[in-house]
Amino acid sequence: MNHRVCPQCGSENIDLEVGYITGKYRCADCGYVGSVIFEFDDKNYQRFLKQLKEDPSQ
Ligand SMILES: [Zn+2]
Repeated sequence: MNHRVCPQCGSENIDLEVGYITGKYRCADCGYVGSVIFEFDDKNYQRFLKQLKEDPSQ
């Protein structure tokens, strides 16, 4: 299963914002808005979440 996640907080709670020529995504958890989202399979998603937790700058 693939996960489409917020690059800032790792949440899957993202919506596609309509009204732009190029699609933009908005994260409902941290408020991130942008055209970039990350896509992971299960294994890489877990790894990404772990990295977010371990990096104090995030
Ligand atoms: Zn987020």
